[in-house]
Amino acid sequence: MFSYRHAFHAGNHADVLKHFVQIQVLNYLNQKDVAYTYIDTHAGAGVYQLDSVQATKTAEFETGIAPLWERDDLPAPLAEYVNLVKGMNPSGKMRYYPGSPYCAEKVARDEDRIRLFELHPSDAKILDDNFNDLAKHEAAQGRRPQGRGKRVIVNKADGFLGVKALLPPPSRRGFVLCDPPYEDKQDYKKVTDMLGDALKRFPSGTYAVWYPVLQRIEARNFAERMKHLATGSWLNVTLTISTPTPDGIALHTSGMFLLNPPYTLEPVLKEVMPYLVKVLGRDSGAKFTLESGEVTTSKKGNAKRA
Ligand code: SAM
Repeated sequence: MFSYRHAFHAGNHADVLKHFVQIQVLNYLNQKDVAYTYIDTHAGAGVYQLDSVQATKTAEFETGIAPLWERDDLPAPLAEYVNLVKGMNPSGKMRYYPGSPYCAEKVARDEDRIRLFELHPSDAKILDDNFNDLAKHEAAQGRRPQGRGKRVIVNKADGFLGVKALLPPPSRRGFVLCDPPYEDKQDYKKVTDMLGDALKRFPSGTYAVWYPVLQRIEARNFAERMKHLATGSWLNVTLTISTPTPDGIALHTSGMFLLNPPYTLEPVLKEVMPYLVKVLGRDSGAKFTLESGEVTTSKKGNAKRA
């Protein structure tokens, strides 16, 4: 069951797309003076060491964060993400990579709530330890007071199920990131079931699902199935870094599908995605796709898709 460890994949092209989009959504939520809840259904370990045995074995960060590290021509929104990663590496050497919980911790404000679910016993412990260390470090520097326990809560639990009890959030402002491993093909169905249920509890929430673009039957039409769950606006962005190999083993394409995305996201992606294709692309198969739509409901309750 627990074979997936994100440490082997940290900082790859899929993480770049995911964390870049995540930061954009959080930035948008930060614009309004009302606290929100960020929920990470599949949090991972929180921070990854890029010189660890796992990370160097696959060196997947070379497909993602590494080619961006030294660039001096980053579009401003992408520079913000790269600077967040650089902020974890004050020596200037690319050594640590932040997972989605740390990206959230860095961008969300003191009054916002961060709720993290991680089922793997080892990663849940590392995640918990990482956040305890961070709290001590910040308290020692006189920043956030120690014992701010309510801001970040780590749950060693199933995020597909745990998210239910948190929706709707008290302030009716919230963002759910769902990033399962998909090693178990049931994850595809669990994602769509979770979204269907979550939209009933909290229709105005923002939901972002990371997904791999693979040939397996469950993966095909996955984005289409999510589009059909939409009750408002949706956005789908994919990044391909290379032509698929005949063995289909390496991950060449991944996507982020969002329900109720901020209206500011699409223009930013139009600016940044061509740059990511240029810098991360490995051959002529590199490309991005970006599509969005809106479901409007008539007075009679009929849904109209545009
Ligand atoms: N979101 C993380 C990031 O961007 O840094 C990476 C998450 S990784 C792709 C998926 C994680 O989900 C793994 O750490 C795995 O142990 C965990 N996991 C698998 N099934 C889960 C479940 N049902 N509930 C919570 N966590 C789960």
